[in-house]
Amino acid sequence: MKVFKFGGASVKDAAGVKNLASIMARYMGNMVVVVSAMGKTTNALELVTKNYFTGDKEELEKNIKKIKQFHFDIISSLWENDTHPVLDHVSSDFDQLEKRLAHQPSLDYDFEYDQIVSLGEILSTKIVSAYLNFIGIANQWKDIRLGLRTDATWREGNIDWVLSLGLIKEQFNFNQTHIYLTQGFIGATVTDQTTTLGREGSDYTGAIIANMLDAESVTIWKDVPGIMNADPNKFEFTQKLNMLSYREAVEMTYYGAKVIHPKTMKPLVEKDIPLYVRSFIEPDESGSVICNIDHVMNYVPVFISKEDLILITISPIDFSFIAEESIGKIYKLFAQYRIKVNLVQQSAMNFSLAIDRPERGFEQLITELKRRFVVHYNGGLELLTIRYYNEEVIRELTLNRTVFVAQRTRTAARFLMK
Ligand code: ASP
Ligand code: MG
Repeated sequence: MKVFKFGGASVKDAAGVKNLASIMARYMGNMVVVVSAMGKTTNALELVTKNYFTGDKEELEKNIKKIKQFHFDIISSLWENDTHPVLDHVSSDFDQLEKRLAHQPSLDYDFEYDQIVSLGEILSTKIVSAYLNFIGIANQWKDIRLGLRTDATWREGNIDWVLSLGLIKEQFNFNQTHIYLTQGFIGATVTDQTTTLGREGSDYTGAIIANMLDAESVTIWKDVPGIMNADPNKFEFTQKLNMLSYREAVEMTYYGAKVIHPKTMKPLVEKDIPLYVRSFIEPDESGSVICNIDHVMNYVPVFISKEDLILITISPIDFSFIAEESIGKIYKLFAQYRIKVNLVQQSAMNFSLAIDRPERGFEQLITELKRRFVVHYNGGLELLTIRYYNEEVIRELTLNRTVFVAQRTRTAARFLMK
């Protein structure tokens, strides 16, 4: 069997859903199709969660109304104003959401976030599944939460691999259908509370399903021709990388290449499953493949830029060295705040880390650090990673920029810059 994953951009309107259908029509055999929330629905639902917590009723109502209208519009253009039962299903999902939001929120923001934001994938999959069935691509809608079980780490659920394996095999048994249509990004605890797996987590879901069902391949359909050596929105001359090793792909995604979610590779490597990245705009093109090769195919420089980082420099209050023990404590604190560290530099009396800007809790973190250390920080920085660099490209890209930290290995050069 194969796994297909379609992201939010591929189903951002009715034309997108029709295009998805035309791609599906080209394939036969058993398939699990993972679909993300439509367009920017996840962002919109994040906003609703915020309104819910701040108690801003007017904004809340306005924002729900927008999301509702967006989905209703897609349904009415797909069925050309004919009524289809999916409209009732979608309406009742919105009723449930509104009921939930009429109550006071619990104290746990992250828990409420998962209950609200997960609706995006439920809606999109119901609509896409109904449309495919309507035009004759028979498929079964499946609630992934019946199979994918996680712990109760809200917004970043950790998969219970042992429990989920059995359930996923049972849920996706292909006894009654060749095609399952299901959600990415969401799961559930053993007590049936919805969890999410981290933003852009649908790729990861695709890889988990592929691993558990021993898929022959995973294909991620995107709005780019494949994996590029640089973001075409930022760089003038970009090139497609036709074939990459798993390791290369992990390095790229870890440092901010947005093509695939960084967690996607591990479940695939384990079962040696190739990952295709292809364009839903040009489905005849071959795209890129990430697979089990141990050498690098292209030695063209690869540019990965990550923005909005903060460089935190920590030094001891007295004149002592920055000891391993305190580094351990610092890391523990960052893990507690779920902060991603992108780059580290250490000297006798300084320990510097470049981190992602956390959504919440940054001030608290700094206060905690200041109890034991002297702390300075600089925000709004860019981390540029150049793999297979040469001196010329480095000169060009760091020209007239203030470089805070520079690091080089044989394969990669990295610059943290203003
Ligand atoms: N809809 C979710 C998000 O936008 C998951 C995904 O698209 O992968 O983060
Ligand atoms: Mg998305």
